[in-house]
Amino acid sequence: MSHPSYSPILIVLSILIAIVTSYTTLVLVGRIFDRHRFEKMIWIIAGSVVMGTGIFSMHVIAMVAYHTAFPMSYNILLLVFSLFSGIVSSFLALKLLYTQPLTIWTILSTGCSLCLGSLILHYTALFSTHDTIEIQFTSIYFTLSIVMAIIFSSLAIKILIHIRSNKEISITRSIIGSVVLGLSISLMHYKGTKAVNIIHHDGPDFTNTNALTLGVILSLSSFIIILIALLTAFLDHRALKIEKSLLEQIKKRKNLYRQLVEGAPEPILVHDGETILFVNETCLNIVKATDKQEMIGRSLWNFIHPDYREIVRERFQTMQAGGKITLLEHKVIALDGSIIDIESSGTKIYYDNQDAYQLMIRDITEHKQMERALSDKQQRYQSLFEHNPDAVFSVDQKGFFQEVNPSVGEILGYSQEELLGMNVNDVIKPSSMSLAIESFRNAQKGIPINHNVEVIAKEGQIIPINITNIPIIIEGRVTGIYGIGKDMTNEVEARNRIEKLAYTDQLTGLPNRTWLYKYLHEVLTRMEKMQGDLAILTIDFDDFKNVNDSLGHHYGDLFLQQVSSRLKSCLRDDDKIARLGGDEFIIILENVTDNEAGTLAQKIIDEMNQCINILGHEIKVTLSIGISIQSESFTDVESTIKQADFAMYMAKEKGKNNYQFFSEDMNKKIMRRIQLHSSLQRALENGELELFYQPQVDTKTEKTVGLEALLRWHAPFGNVSPAEFIPVAEQSGIIIPIGEWVLQETCRRIRMWKDHPYLHVPIAVNVSVRQFLDPNFLTKLKKIIREENINPEYLEIEITESVMLDIEESAKLIKDIRDFGIKVAIDDFGKGYSSLYLISNLEFDTLKIDKSFINDGINNDRKLNILTAIIEATSNVQRIIIEGVETIEHIEIAKKFNAITQGYYYSRPLPPEEL
Ligand code: C2E
Ligand code: CA
Ligand code: CA
Repeated sequence: MSHPSYSPILIVLSILIAIVTSYTTLVLVGRIFDRHRFEKMIWIIAGSVVMGTGIFSMHVIAMVAYHTAFPMSYNILLLVFSLFSGIVSSFLALKLLYTQPLTIWTILSTGCSLCLGSLILHYTALFSTHDTIEIQFTSIYFTLSIVMAIIFSSLAIKILIHIRSNKEISITRSIIGSVVLGLSISLMHYKGTKAVNIIHHDGPDFTNTNALTLGVILSLSSFIIILIALLTAFLDHRALKIEKSLLEQIKKRKNLYRQLVEGAPEPILVHDGETILFVNETCLNIVKATDKQEMIGRSLWNFIHPDYREIVRERFQTMQAGGKITLLEHKVIALDGSIIDIESSGTKIYYDNQDAYQLMIRDITEHKQMERALSDKQQRYQSLFEHNPDAVFSVDQKGFFQEVNPSVGEILGYSQEELLGMNVNDVIKPSSMSLAIESFRNAQKGIPINHNVEVIAKEGQIIPINITNIPIIIEGRVTGIYGIGKDMTNEVEARNRIEKLAYTDQLTGLPNRTWLYKYLHEVLTRMEKMQGDLAILTIDFDDFKNVNDSLGHHYGDLFLQQVSSRLKSCLRDDDKIARLGGDEFIIILENVTDNEAGTLAQKIIDEMNQCINILGHEIKVTLSIGISIQSESFTDVESTIKQADFAMYMAKEKGKNNYQFFSEDMNKKIMRRIQLHSSLQRALENGELELFYQPQVDTKTEKTVGLEALLRWHAPFGNVSPAEFIPVAEQSGIIIPIGEWVLQETCRRIRMWKDHPYLHVPIAVNVSVRQFLDPNFLTKLKKIIREENINPEYLEIEITESVMLDIEESAKLIKDIRDFGIKVAIDDFGKGYSSLYLISNLEFDTLKIDKSFINDGINNDRKLNILTAIIEATSNVQRIIIEGVETIEHIEIAKKFNAITQGYYYSRPLPPEEL
């Protein structure tokens, strides 16, 4: 038994190693939890190596420290076994504790493993270094070493469990834990060491220096191992920290991405080139899905329209190769089978640990529809524009052509290119300019206007165009004008033709009545601008009726054609002539004096007086002209013509073949006629009319053989002669009721004088043209005779030649009248134009020779000869009455012809009571 010597430095070193080992183990254990399943094992192994090696080193150093005084030898095998037992027990303990569920069994096995391991390590290490040692199992130290081993194990387990549950342990706590563990394992060792007796032998010894060296080497290598382990743990911790924060960031980003993608208004889809991995809500709408599961997991190709699969696949390849792709418009098939237009772009992304493609989609169905509608509209517009037979064009605010359709060029003769450099003003005729500008301005104000203008084509021809200007309004602003122009050439020509027809007299080719009224109206409206006066000449041929009657209508027409051209030849260029109908013509002279108008009228009369030859017939023409001069503009067309007409009648009254100016005097006559006209209306009902009777006396017997009823009007403003009022009554038609009254009154008189000794004679009544031509005349006549119940032979009606417009018709009526028993007399024979043809072919009772014969006859043998001839020619006539017999000379002449006389010589017309 020897007293062992020991090295305090080594003891301290051993304890330090124990502590540092413990600390390192704890640090390494801490790594276990930061690691995945596989990586955990590395740290468990590392931990057990450090722990086993550390404890082993601590033991060996402690042993060396105690045996510095003796030479030492060692058994390598045992030493290795000792180290191995340390590592294995540590490994078992750590593995159990950190991979198995935490049960009593686990804790116990861990405890046993640690406890046994440290004891085996301790004692095998002891045995390895000593040839002979004797363990005093009874020794208190042995027991204490076991107790310490248990304490160490318990402490270790406590700390390790703490780490397992807390995972994170503060440095102070791990330092405290390491110190406690290190001390407890050191204590176990030193107690255990005391429990053995070392028996020294002679033989090959290790020198002190050897033992010391071993201690130092072991310490150093332990430290190095520990340091490497610590450094690795530290680096791993750091790396893991960085990795963790990176993972954190990735997680955050992933969330952010999801949020962004979910919330994105645009549909987004992620796929791996085949399968759909992700879609956002809006993406569902596109394919009309309601749930994401209807898309996620399905093949992308189910949704891509077959026509586009190829190109879409190519795009994926491009993306995969790292290329960029542009927007693509294509079609997809929705879940309900409908085809949707979309626009998509894509990028390659990393999604859920794999390469994927993110597609950004835009539903362009609506856009496409609009595009289609727009293009449709555009095409419609284009065809409306291009194929319009009308000229369609647009101009800018300044009037420059912006667009022109082919028709514009066709109408104007310019090429499209030429027109596009031109302004509308370049083609508008100057006379249409102001109208065109006004219309353009209105259109600019937004008022569409239609108007007619004339344009000048390239070759200079004038083309009438009907233009509609429409404002081009874009976003509420007028940016130009659209024009639609219709070539009116044909229409204008047609209108002119129709107008010409409507305004032309077909027989003579002269303007007609319609034209005259229109033109005269225009002239009267612009009279103020006229320098001189305006003259209207009314022309009426004196004997046209007879030309017609004697030669027939064909001759009449030829006559009118000839006189028309002759009239026209008398006029100056600016004078106008129109045929109103029949043989009535009107000439309009502008800017003339009275003298000029009179000279022209005389020229016309002279020219016309030269005979006209119609188909071999020489006809002498006379005419009467009435001239109305207007110097003021207030006259209307109607009264202007009336004035000229009136002057013309005056010319006729003044013996025809002359011209008369309308004068104030005539005006008075007109006024008088107007007065008569209005008063006549009431004359009948006011009883202002009365019949006077004039006897017709047989010159031989000097007996009254008849009476003529002559109308008298006792008008409120004085008596009016029938010569004055009968034409007025005739004109107004009031002659019909008046004539009826006269007949009635006469018949009453006949009845009254039925039994009178002298007055029971036939009474003659004057019947006017109008009355005679009244279709009911004969019926009325018969009715009156029947009513008054008289013998019709006592009534004679007097008609003038003027009623005989249609000889056949009149002859028939005269026959009917005479058949009824009423006598018919031809009145005023020889006044004006008389036709012997007429009297020799008509059946009638009495011929009354006009008073102009007897008046002229006294000094005019020629007249008397004519009278003789007439009377001879009318041998079929029963009575001849010579009118206007005033003197005894007249009676003498009448006696020669054996005629009846009527005149002042015997009696003026008298009221019945004076007869
Ligand atoms: P008329 O039929 O030729 O009538 C004869 C006219 O000569 C009457 O004029 C008469 O007064 C007038 N007279 C008679 N003897 C003489 C004479 O010796 N010397 C002159 N210078 N004149 C004489 P009056 O009554 O003024 O009538 C004028 C005309 O008015 C008539 O001419 C006749 O055409 C028309 N007239 C008169 N009464 C009627 C009537 O009841 N109906 C119609 N339709 N016409 C009538
Ligand atoms: Ca008469
Ligand atoms: Ca007469």
